[in-house]
Amino acid sequence: MSFFSTRGESCVTASQAILRGIAPDGGLYVPAMFPAVSPERLTTLTEMSYEKRATAVLKRFLEDFSLREIEDAVHAAYGADRFAHPDIAPLTKLDGATWALELFHGPTLAFKDMALQLLPHLLRLSAEKNGETREVCILVATSGDTGKAALEGFRDVPGTSCTVFYPLDGVSDVQKLQMVTTGGSNTRVIAVHGNFDDAQTGVKELFGSEAFREEMGKKGKTLSSANSINLGRLVPQVVYYFSAYADLLKQHAIAAGEPVNFCVPTGNFGNILAGYYARMMGLPVNKLICASNRNNVLTDFFRSGIYSTHRTFFKTISPSMDILVSSNLERLLYEAADRDGSLIRTWMGQLKECGSYSVGDQRAEWMADVFWGDCADNKDTLAEIRKRWEQDGYLFDPHTAVAGHVLREYRKATGDDTPSVIVSTASPYKFAADVLSALTGDNAGGDPFAASEKLQEYTGIPMPEQVRKLRELPVRHTAECGRDRMGEAVLEAFS
Ligand SMILES: *Cc1c(COP(=O)(O)O)cnc(C)c1O
Repeated sequence: MSFFSTRGESCVTASQAILRGIAPDGGLYVPAMFPAVSPERLTTLTEMSYEKRATAVLKRFLEDFSLREIEDAVHAAYGADRFAHPDIAPLTKLDGATWALELFHGPTLAFKDMALQLLPHLLRLSAEKNGETREVCILVATSGDTGKAALEGFRDVPGTSCTVFYPLDGVSDVQKLQMVTTGGSNTRVIAVHGNFDDAQTGVKELFGSEAFREEMGKKGKTLSSANSINLGRLVPQVVYYFSAYADLLKQHAIAAGEPVNFCVPTGNFGNILAGYYARMMGLPVNKLICASNRNNVLTDFFRSGIYSTHRTFFKTISPSMDILVSSNLERLLYEAADRDGSLIRTWMGQLKECGSYSVGDQRAEWMADVFWGDCADNKDTLAEIRKRWEQDGYLFDPHTAVAGHVLREYRKATGDDTPSVIVSTASPYKFAADVLSALTGDNAGGDPFAASEKLQEYTGIPMPEQVRKLRELPVRHTAECGRDRMGEAVLEAFS
């Protein structure tokens, strides 16, 4: 299968798309077509392990990888003891019509591990296949969770290095500590004076800068991206939508072919887009419910067809969703535009020049057929954490709670009682102070470790080992830079 850029015609293999990260014209790589998974095939997934399910889905996209290569990469990512749960992405029943798909059992306690444990292996193979002998230098902008997941995925992987930019005051204490204590000889972590959008824009500009590529080339390095714009992030995320459906079938919660909803806490639109790709492959998905926090640019977009960044940026208790420019939306727009790259160029140009674009009523209606957008503010989010705990004995993190609230609102507004899966993206212990305060009104003075202890005592849910260990690890990364000095900071880090 080949892959196109959303902004033009360029046609590359899977390994080339993964190696490049972003297309030379600034577009994102999308599959030439969506491989179909038949209903019979879907049923056979029920008896498979997560590794087998992953291989079955991945091989449909990664046609220039051998089956053996895919199996080995999948085993390296999900097979060893890197995930704390044997099912990798277990599905837990919350009530008669609602399930949680838990994607936070990986080494960094957030769903980013699902893809970032696999991506380094895919990237190493992609470099090999394309005769790339230079060091593949990964640049990442993070709103909190991607950074640590990328650092852990790439740490000490030969032939690669990983540099992470995070917004200085835009991540939680635990997220920051997780990053700045990272070991490994090939990792760098730099704080940017700005918010996530500044960091993301800065990284995109570095990818687009010939001068910067040349400088890095002189150092024997080539650039790639581990952000969710990389195809190698997207494809592994398609897997768990199939896996969740297979588990629902296995639990006899649904009949074969019966549609389900997925409600996804959304920031950069990568997770939910993978759900859309699964739907395009034939997974019986009714609605994809796009849950935002107070930075609700996507809620407005799905209601009006107008994407506008003329709005205040809010820091919320779900920081990984504090995003105004959702990069992966471009891949959905490409489908909405009937795969017309020139329309995407126009809209992205308008977004850059004027901060907004409109897709028009017809296309907005087309999207509304599948997508529903709504949002939750901090108060809704805290109330949802408490309600879920009291009603179902289930503990949400603040990101997942945004989805929990939005699903309730969706059901109220539509009366739709389709079985629904809430995509659960982080361990509550990653945001223990806010979760504790939602349950008890006490946030342990904002101290994440004290809060974790108290949360464990209050709920009886064991604190993950990673949180416990974090307190003792030495800080290894202290670099900072201004938002317009990110290129220099990378060059300095490697000098
Ligand atoms: C990254 C992240 C999200 C948002 O996912 P996108 O793919 O960016 O939409 C939601 N919750 C958590 C915990 C995350 O780390």
